[in-house]
Order: sequence, then C-alpha cells, then structure tokens
Amino acid sequence: MVTITQQEVERRLGTVPCAICKASSFGIDERVKGTDGEWRGICKKCYYTFPVHADMEFYLRTQPDVPYRLKEISCTACDHRGVSLDFRATMSVRDAYYFVTCQTCKRQFPEKSSLEAFE
Ligand SMILES: [Zn+2]
Ligand SMILES: [Zn+2]
Repeated sequence: MVTITQQEVERRLGTVPCAICKASSFGIDERVKGTDGEWRGICKKCYYTFPVHADMEFYLRTQPDVPYRLKEISCTACDHRGVSLDFRATMSVRDAYYFVTCQTCKRQFPEKSSLEAFE
C-alpha cells in the first residue's frame, strides 16, 4: 500500500540536487506513474528522469538489511538514531537517496544511500 502522496514526494525531492544539472526542482511524471509504487521523478530544469520507489513496505520485505541500516542513521536535527523510511529515489547509479523521518523529533531529511550499487 502506498501512503505517501505525489505532492509530498515532489516537495521532498526538492531537498536533493539533480544528478545532472544540480537543480532541486522536481515533478513526478504522471504518464508513467505505476500503481505499484514505482514512479518516475523528472527534473524540471533538464528533464532528466529517474526512478522513485514509493512502496516501502514491499521494498523492506525484499531488503532485510535495510531496517538495520535505518536504525543506525542519526537524525540531522536531534542526533537520535533511528528513522523510518518514507520513500527512496535512485537519482543515478551512484546517488540513491532514502527519504526518512526521525522517529524522535519527526524531522524529515534525505539520507544518501550506498546500498543500490548492484541494482
Ligand atoms: Zn536536472
Ligand atoms: Zn530527530
């Protein structure tokens, strides 16, 4: 089940730079928006597109290591460890981001991931 909204995803994508032009203004390409939580982000400046994965329930089931990693991520605001994963975006082979929420203070921030190299 996908609970995050398209508006929310677009707003939070704006906190990371485009892999090509480094701008931070993105939309979701409506034409290729799947019902399975696989969306496509598009840079509003250079039109670069990249996959956005909104179905985290499924992802966490297939990636058993990820929940452990989430427990190790420190909040950028309160320094407590332990975040929940809202969605992720594979900006490029080297730049994948987890968009997470601190479980303590509810701050939302992007966490660069290095787990996607073999995808
Ligand atoms: Zn761009
Ligand atoms: Zn926090």
